Amino acid sequence: MLMHDPWIDGRTVADAGWARIIRTSPSNGTQIASVAAGTAETVVAAIAAARIAFDARIWADMPGSARGKVLSRMADLMERDLDTIAQLEADEAGKTIAGGRGETEWGIELLRYGAALAWNLSGKAFSDGGPDNLGLVLHHPRGVVGMITPWNFPIVTLMQKLPYALAAGCSVVVKPSEMTSGTTLMLARLASEAGVPPGVFNVVTGEGSVVGEAMSTHPGIDMMSFTGSTAVGRRIARHAADRIRPVALELGGKGANIVFADADLDAAAKGAVAGFTLNKGEECCAGSRLLVQESIAEDFGRRVAEAAARVRLGTGEHADMGPLISAAQMEKVLAYVQSGLDQGARLLTGGTRVTEGGLADGNYVAPTVFVGARPGMRIVDEEIFGPVTAIIPFKDAADAIRIANSTGYGLANGVWTSNLDTAMVVVRRLRSGTTYVNTYLETAPQLPFGGLKDSGLGRENGIEGLSEFLETRAAFIRL
Ligand code: NAD
Repeated sequence: MLMHDPWIDGRTVADAGWARIIRTSPSNGTQIASVAAGTAETVVAAIAAARIAFDARIWADMPGSARGKVLSRMADLMERDLDTIAQLEADEAGKTIAGGRGETEWGIELLRYGAALAWNLSGKAFSDGGPDNLGLVLHHPRGVVGMITPWNFPIVTLMQKLPYALAAGCSVVVKPSEMTSGTTLMLARLASEAGVPPGVFNVVTGEGSVVGEAMSTHPGIDMMSFTGSTAVGRRIARHAADRIRPVALELGGKGANIVFADADLDAAAKGAVAGFTLNKGEECCAGSRLLVQESIAEDFGRRVAEAAARVRLGTGEHADMGPLISAAQMEKVLAYVQSGLDQGARLLTGGTRVTEGGLADGNYVAPTVFVGARPGMRIVDEEIFGPVTAIIPFKDAADAIRIANSTGYGLANGVWTSNLDTAMVVVRRLRSGTTYVNTYLETAPQLPFGGLKDSGLGRENGIEGLSEFLETRAAFIRL
């Protein structure tokens, strides 16, 4: 069994006194890791290490290009260890091996992009034309950043923060999910091997209610960057408000995948199924509402249901979709399915746990497609975080936009059409941080990512993602 202990000031801190959290495999129930349940004191020690490192300014005052080189080296080391990282990610988070690999590769991509941004840190000089004055706009690292990440994409959710914060010159304390701490600890070791100085990247394992709470209320944290549920995000925002500190929040979503009759329906059907089964639907951008134009709704629904029924469950090389993260999450998803039935929706396919074919010990739920769904039903309004979608017919673009905008969330949505005008109307009118056009869940590191409404505050990736970790200061110089 793997031992996951906090990483503070450049080394593993093993303390026999900690309680342990036992992580079991989502695919077969065996014990895979013993995770140290850090305490408030552990958090204080990690923040102190991060503060000392930041104030020593070895990392913060290094030229951006030098930080960029270290981050590039870390990306090289991730590539060296790709197989091990991907396997651990798959084991802990219940992914297929292809899913673990894909996530690790995307994490490397984000790290390389962050490394490149470190070379491009810049300020501005301002002059009103007079010979006797000069204004400077300067960007400084925010200081010690607290990061809290969820279990669904442990590497990517971290890599949408860490490279940018490190490129900016910050020191960080990370609290990964207690269910998936392994890869974050692995990355901390690789960062150290690459040359990130001790104390700049610390990891405290443990429960959110203890470690996360201690971190987000601690006066030594200059900024909180959180990815997780809207409920916990609200709590973190309140703590940040008490101390007037910046906070970045990547929260839940309820994506609408909108299919117009004039779309390439083969591609749309494929995209629709991937939209709610990728990472078993444990995906903040999942297309868990499938809005289909009335004239094709029945045919398209049948097509999607047939493709969904062909999705192969398991974790091996030939599997498409892994088990849900935990038995509790599986029960939650199955309760949503029941609520859909109770509220009058009808199942086209799925809706049950799958135990056949050697899957009895895993948390497998069949890809599930509902019809007869409408806003007001829980399966349409609430984030399910499982492989479930609900088909909702619409008349025209205005109707689709109205339905898509009807939840509290505003993270990511998609539109499928061969008409660019229709696509642009939808892109402009959706209250959505990201809109995919004729694709779903595809993006680039250069594109800022984040939510509107209850889906969050701030942006990750792109230049905007770097800016979150910089504070802007000005100087006015009388010459
Ligand atoms: P969660 O909010 O329960 O937990 C997220 C993290 O917060 C975990 O590390 C957890 O231990 C910690 N936490 C729990 N209680 C805390 C507290 N009181 N104070 C501080 N930290 C605490 O979410 P989850 O179940 O791990 O993840 C699923 C959620 O994350 C979904 O809502 C999903 O949409 C969201 N998510 C959003 C994005 C995005 O980029 N917008 C990406 C991935 C996941």
